[in-house]
Amino acid sequence: MAVNACPYCGEDDLRPEPEPRGAWRCAGCTRVFVVTFVGLSVGGPVGAGASLRPGGLRGLE
Ligand SMILES: [Zn+2]
Repeated sequence: MAVNACPYCGEDDLRPEPEPRGAWRCAGCTRVFVVTFVGLSVGGPVGAGASLRPGGLRGLE
């Protein structure tokens, strides 16, 4: 999944990392992270598994 900016510092200079699969490395803060798709929010209650929740973005610090 492509990302446009680092979720931690906002830097937009992101490079793909070979490991783990789907990981990105931020050139601004050197964090390596994986963006996980949780689901679609279709008018359901927030937190019902349909929105991006903590843990959706897994930092590998
Ligand atoms: Zn960053």
